[in-house]
Amino acid sequence: MKNLAIVSGASRGIGRAVAIKLATNGYAVAINYLHDRASAVEVVAEIEAVGGVAKAIQADVANETDVIRLFDRSLELGELKVLVNNAGILRPQLRLEEMSLERVKAVFETNVYGVFLMCKQAARVMSDHCGANIVNVSSIASKTGSANEYVDYAASKGAVDSLTIGLAKELASRGIRVNAVRPGMIHTEIHAAGGEPNRVDRLASKIPLNRGGKVNEVAESIVWLSSGQASYCTGALLDVAGGL
Ligand code: NAP
Repeated sequence: MKNLAIVSGASRGIGRAVAIKLATNGYAVAINYLHDRASAVEVVAEIEAVGGVAKAIQADVANETDVIRLFDRSLELGELKVLVNNAGILRPQLRLEEMSLERVKAVFETNVYGVFLMCKQAARVMSDHCGANIVNVSSIASKTGSANEYVDYAASKGAVDSLTIGLAKELASRGIRVNAVRPGMIHTEIHAAGGEPNRVDRLASKIPLNRGGKVNEVAESIVWLSSGQASYCTGALLDVAGGL
């Protein structure tokens, strides 16, 4: 039976890069997406073209019925060894006093409840003491707070950090590791959803390394944390943020 990795939000951006790297390392990969089936199918084709195994599976990580179906369909590919909770959203830049509760709820539904539901299923199906592990994609925003842009998003990632630390302790006795990566400003399409596609370039001079990050730089850290090379890391929050 093949080792299986589930990557949420793998149709583009950081998730896509992680999925392709995990497939290169021999995992069968479930390519989860929300809306963009065409892009998810392209990721599958790219993996299959080099002899890998992958399947595109639509599911809203914030919906428990969808998450259960996602796991059922993914488990047809192999034994779950790695879950990467990468799916995440942000909304247009606003100060907190202008934010509606509906907006804040939508951000928390995907970024927090989604991670919670995915971790819940993983904890149920992962085998003990076989190297199985979870990597959550948080954000350096949990540390910086994203003032004047999206404190709701930053707060949702703070919740992901706490969940990571607590779940790592809950699952440690089973030999299941739980870690998080906190990317800084990375060149992806997420910034367009915030209303500023060129945000990374505008703020590059404020980053100690003086540039935005590339998806592969984040994906490398996620793949490393998910590997046996990180066998003594659990409950870790790894900043991949150019010094922010
Ligand atoms: P992105 O390019 O906007 O891609 C987001 C992915 O998540 C897409 O594949 C999207 O699927 C999927 N998605 C969104 N909502 C979903 C849901 N409810 N259920 C399932 N899938 C869903 O984002 P990215 O920049 O690569 O970010 C990936 C992760 O890194 C996020 O958690 C983000 O918060 C975090 N991060 C990013 C940055 C950055 O600067 N880019 C910095 C720090 C942290 P569809 O396309 O099918 O809708």
